[in-house]
Amino acid sequence: MKRRNKQCLNCGEEFLPKTVASVYCSHICSKKAYKRKIKLLKIEDEVKALINKIPENRAFISVPEAGMLFGIAKKTLYRLVGQGKIPSVNLGTRLVRIDRRVMEGMFGPARSLPQAESAPKKKLYSLEKEDCYSIGEIAQRFQISEGSVYSHIRKYSIPTRQIGKHVYAPKSEIDNLYNGNDFI
Ligand SMILES: [Zn+2]
Repeated sequence: MKRRNKQCLNCGEEFLPKTVASVYCSHICSKKAYKRKIKLLKIEDEVKALINKIPENRAFISVPEAGMLFGIAKKTLYRLVGQGKIPSVNLGTRLVRIDRRVMEGMFGPARSLPQAESAPKKKLYSLEKEDCYSIGEIAQRFQISEGSVYSHIRKYSIPTRQIGKHVYAPKSEIDNLYNGNDFI
């Protein structure tokens, strides 16, 4: 069967995929995409940490806090505040405070996690061997060390299964971690 050209998810160039699963034209693109992904995951962790620092019982929140909690761009919020569509108290330059309940009324309950992670957790993975990669396969496929694979698996709580001497992780979860551009 003849494979058709695909568009590289990183650079957009057309390339002839090595396997059906290939999404990047080269190791360079695959590494770049991976680095970007890790960076985004890091940013997401930082946002999560910031969100966790906002006391739940504090009635008034800043615009950046509101943006994080309700998943709305700061610019949009400043505009709505400026137009008086969101009532606010101004404690000084850049010290606008918004009533959290007003935000909840307008935008629904605050999220406790950034969008990418608060999306309903897919538990659709299968731990059958044919639906899994071994750690070695993952390292090879995504051009990273086995040590990194293990640390990401731990960090993102990806389920694993040991079969014989090898540890396996679900293809779906791994592809989602390293391939997706669903974090943007
Ligand atoms: Zn490329």
